[in-house]
Amino acid sequence: MTATPAVEGWFTTGPDPALVGSRCVTCGTVFFPRTAGFCGNPACDGETFEDTELSRHGTVWSYTDAQYQPPPPYIPRTDPYEPFALAAVELPEGLVVLGQVADGYGVGDLRVGAEVELVVETLYVDETGDRTIWRWKPVIEMGEETDQ
Ligand SMILES: [Zn+2]
Repeated sequence: MTATPAVEGWFTTGPDPALVGSRCVTCGTVFFPRTAGFCGNPACDGETFEDTELSRHGTVWSYTDAQYQPPPPYIPRTDPYEPFALAAVELPEGLVVLGQVADGYGVGDLRVGAEVELVVETLYVDETGDRTIWRWKPVIEMGEETDQ
């Protein structure tokens, strides 16, 4: 049994997982998820992108209990659907990336401006093994976090 991403090519795995975005080689703007074709920067006519790993730390920009099932690639873990915490996290690159909050954490662990770290956790298990997805894990500010 192996662990493979539930969505292909959106993030790296391993001890320090990172989201994979596209950087416009013309203007340097970073996009996530990866893009191709024309640059999304209206002031740029670049059409060439290179893969880039995004920062693994960001700050909470907004968060919510997801009361409705999000669109793909979010795959419901439960049927019927149960709400879970979602965080919109601002990265140093200037992107806001939506993701679920890590297992064991909820909206009570979040506040706007708090630091979070990217983790990869099992989303569900199928016949090939664990299927994983990125999540945002609150960074405990007291230096007490020793379970990793
Ligand atoms: Zn560009």
